[in-house]
Amino acid sequence: MVEIKYVPSICPYCGTGCGINFVVKDGKIIGVEPYKRHPVNEGKVCPKGNFGYQFINREDRLTTPLIKENGEFREASWDEALDLVANKLKEVSDEDPNKVGFYACARSPNENIYITQKLARVACGTQNVDHCARICHGPTVAGLATTFGSGAMTNGFDSIKEADYIFCIGSNNMEAHPLFGRKMIQAKQNGAKLVVLDPRFTPTAKIADEYVQFETGTDVALMNAMIKVIIDEGLQDDEFIANRTKGYEEMKETVQKYTLEMASEITGIKPEVIKKLAIDYASADKAAIVYSLGITEHSHGADNVMSTANLAMLTGNIGKQGTGVNPLRGQNNVQGACDMGALPSDYVGYRKVKDPETTAWFNDYYSGYGYEVNLPTTPGLTLVEMMNAAHAGDLKVLYIHGEDPVLSDADVQHTKEALENLEMLVVQECFLTDTAQCADVVLPAAGWGEQEGTFTSGERRVQCLHKAQEPPEGAWLDWKIMEEIAVRMGVPRELFHYESAQDIFEEIRECAPIMAGMNRERLDTPEALHWPCPSEDDPCQPLMHKEKFAHPDGLGVFQALEHKGPVETVDDEYPLLLTTTRILFHYHAAMTRRCETLNNEVKTGFIEINSKDAAERGIINGEVVRAFSRRGEIAIPARVTDDIREGIVNIPMHFVECAANVLTNSDSFDPKSKMVELKACAIQVEKFPEK
Ligand code: SF4
Repeated sequence: MVEIKYVPSICPYCGTGCGINFVVKDGKIIGVEPYKRHPVNEGKVCPKGNFGYQFINREDRLTTPLIKENGEFREASWDEALDLVANKLKEVSDEDPNKVGFYACARSPNENIYITQKLARVACGTQNVDHCARICHGPTVAGLATTFGSGAMTNGFDSIKEADYIFCIGSNNMEAHPLFGRKMIQAKQNGAKLVVLDPRFTPTAKIADEYVQFETGTDVALMNAMIKVIIDEGLQDDEFIANRTKGYEEMKETVQKYTLEMASEITGIKPEVIKKLAIDYASADKAAIVYSLGITEHSHGADNVMSTANLAMLTGNIGKQGTGVNPLRGQNNVQGACDMGALPSDYVGYRKVKDPETTAWFNDYYSGYGYEVNLPTTPGLTLVEMMNAAHAGDLKVLYIHGEDPVLSDADVQHTKEALENLEMLVVQECFLTDTAQCADVVLPAAGWGEQEGTFTSGERRVQCLHKAQEPPEGAWLDWKIMEEIAVRMGVPRELFHYESAQDIFEEIRECAPIMAGMNRERLDTPEALHWPCPSEDDPCQPLMHKEKFAHPDGLGVFQALEHKGPVETVDDEYPLLLTTTRILFHYHAAMTRRCETLNNEVKTGFIEINSKDAAERGIINGEVVRAFSRRGEIAIPARVTDDIREGIVNIPMHFVECAANVLTNSDSFDPKSKMVELKACAIQVEKFPEK
């Protein structure tokens, strides 16, 4: 008899965290149905949620470890591959723990991420562990932790439905987070005014009540000028400022020079429009800020984030439903990857490496059975710094779990040179990605739908995943692979052995007070739980900063910020500013391009160019053009459109055959968050010469 069953899980694409049911026939996943009782998506999913399961049972899944010899992969046994990796990690980390590094996987369950950072810290003694949030929402973590004391979204997703005014800047969520976009539409139906600010007239801008086009990378100038208007008009919330914040006077002094005329010149927005934005935001009863990577992926990304926090604190738009600062996290579990301590400065639960008492606590917790852990109190290298160290020959082994930096990091040439410079690159993956092809050892891993665990969505909601099918024969659970490596490196198995993902989550609860109250019974429900949830009788807190901020003194901290602009500016040789984006049908290529339905929708990349810029160059719609920067060049079809500002061009980042990151700049990073400037670099676009 044919057996068909539904297995509940969570979508593996964006940080909205929609609930789905796998449709499983005779032990194999054959489809997805939206989870009708799920509070986030309420029985709806976007195309990625609907068809994004198709990669799971592809024939090109990795099922055998691979070892590279003389430039060619050969198949190897698990024993041989694990011994090779463990011996090299031990040899190098015994010599100098700073010469090994780990990239954790922000698409993987929390439990795998926790084990990745544990392998780095416990087996190798290094703090060099990071993940792709660094080049996504690293500035959110740094910026909101500095201002509010916690680097996460302040409100739950549903809160937006109670807003009167939504200030949406640098977020094309109708494509990148469609089921959050649906909530903005519901807010509009409830009477909210939606204002979208973006250099591109995106699908999100098209549903706005007001659209404001502005120059890339000028957000601080815009928000400083808005703050000056609000103060000049007496619209600030004096009581909130006096009782709940500090640093106001210094911030106020800094914004004085940001007159409407000055900000208009920098941003390209008319002075009266800036003034109206400021007055409308400050006058609304409940005003919410929504942003995504248009704010963060800049060399001043943390300053952009802190500008949004300044605006919210100035007007008391924080700690209430319908308000707040709402960063939309990129990947499904990028929030979880931060929470799990896949950060060189933080252990699980944002406990600080540089605090000697905290590090002593973890050294003690992770030691035993004759094995002593002695971690340093100096934060390790970030993802960008690890790649730069590899490039300089200062990093010898890099262990990449489920990330594809050859496609996703700025400056592909720099990334490939860095990976080639390593003594060993280990990649733990489901597919032979562009990065895995550069590896010395490839370890085949189980994928989504093949393991238990939890994901944490952008609203800090920790949700359970369930196993719907067995991994293909030969692919192992990620945490099992890492347990075997740790044991081969000399860590007593007792310190690294778990019977299940749930066992690992129990350890996470012991180490992270913000999750201590998340027992399985409470977690495994459609509503699940948001952190902070410090005890089993705590109802959990979707809304943060209600009475005090998360800093020890409970106060929010205004920041005095100056406009900086992109590091690489246009000139005669490279007169166009390139921005990079995502599109509705794709996420990261390893998954969506292996989903036939999604790939058929958009089969390759394109460059959006304004019709005037195209006409100046004689470029017609659909023509394959040459796009080049100081780093490299690509051939790519042109999409001629007036939906993008003159002087700006855009390339979606998903397509390796015309990869945006061949052009982007890895030199320009944010000193506060180590984010590279993926949203702005100077390029030129030309017709190919006639043959
Ligand atoms: Fe998945 Fe995001 Fe689409 Fe929801 S909105 S179905 S989480 S990609």
